[in-house]
Amino acid sequence: MTEDFYDILGVSRDADEEEIQKAYREAVREYHPDVSDDPDAEEKFKKAKKAKEVLTDEEQRQMYDQMGHEQFIEAEKRGATENGGRGPGGPGGDPFGGGGGGFGGMGDIFDQFFGGGGRSRNRPQKGQDLKTQLTIDMETAYHGTEKEINITRPEECSDCNGRGHPPGTDSQTCPECNGRGQTTRVQETAFGRMQQRATCRRCAGEGTIYEESCPTCRGDGVVREDATLVVEIPAGIQSGQTLRMRGEGAPGEQGARNGDLLVEINVEDHPEFERDGSDLQKHEPISFPQAVFGDEIEIETFDGPVEFEVPAGTQSGERFRLKGKGMPRPQRRGQGDLYVQVEVVTPESLNEEQREALEAFAEAGGEDIDVDQGFFDKLRNSF
Ligand SMILES: [Zn+2]
Ligand SMILES: [Zn+2]
Repeated sequence: MTEDFYDILGVSRDADEEEIQKAYREAVREYHPDVSDDPDAEEKFKKAKKAKEVLTDEEQRQMYDQMGHEQFIEAEKRGATENGGRGPGGPGGDPFGGGGGGFGGMGDIFDQFFGGGGRSRNRPQKGQDLKTQLTIDMETAYHGTEKEINITRPEECSDCNGRGHPPGTDSQTCPECNGRGQTTRVQETAFGRMQQRATCRRCAGEGTIYEESCPTCRGDGVVREDATLVVEIPAGIQSGQTLRMRGEGAPGEQGARNGDLLVEINVEDHPEFERDGSDLQKHEPISFPQAVFGDEIEIETFDGPVEFEVPAGTQSGERFRLKGKGMPRPQRRGQGDLYVQVEVVTPESLNEEQREALEAFAEAGGEDIDVDQGFFDKLRNSF
């Protein structure tokens, strides 16, 4: 027994459009190849799509009911169900006609059916998302801030409210496609009749043509505008993260919602602080006596100086953790840590008193140092 379109969608013969759309959405959820493990998912999905297309088109459905499934499919292959208009099939290929196809139109399908209610076809499309980049320094990333950005983006033409024609312009049904928005061309080829469907060029798929187009946007309904926006940058943001500004992208078609503006943040390197996620590291020079005796020193952070106790007997290169003095953690509480790597600085020159003291120090420790002659030359020159 051959399944007919009603069986495929699991609806009754008198199901209305809403029920059919609902059944189709369920089928999409179940059989969409991106979500289904069923090896036949793609085929089932295509069938459901086809069934929905025919049953939600009044003319096609009437024809289908009159002809019955098999005859309809046959007739369709011959192109007889087409009236020069928008027929079954469309993007994604004809699952019953066989061959070709592929899954090109999938993104559109999701947008159309999960984006909200309304009729599936000719539904105004949501505006495009736009992208831009913003570079900030690490201190700004530490504190978070509001920053102004200037962008040029498409905006709805205010002269025609995005319609593309001045208000009150006379209009008529597009004679090219009889208001369907699509044209079909039937070609005789060696393999039989081939159909090509395309968006109507005359009316750009709208089905209506207007006597006059808007001079400001030349009929596009959209103009380029400069805009200044304020981006809120959360404290602790990391390089490569993207902030989404809802509705600040390209305008949607005829009242559909605008796209978003995606702002990719680039955080510059800092000369003193190295960053690893929410932790920071910096090098801190100390003197030999500080390393030996220990000392209380101040460490500069993005929040001002903090006191740090260098322990007696610190080795050069030793690392200390200052808890909670790193970068803020976005979305989570608290802050990362600041690692202080201590570097003991060796003096490159000494005064007489220092030299004597250091020699005495070496002697007291039983060290016999063969002092580099160059060092004394440098010393003498400095007097
Ligand atoms: Zn047209
Ligand atoms: Zn305009």
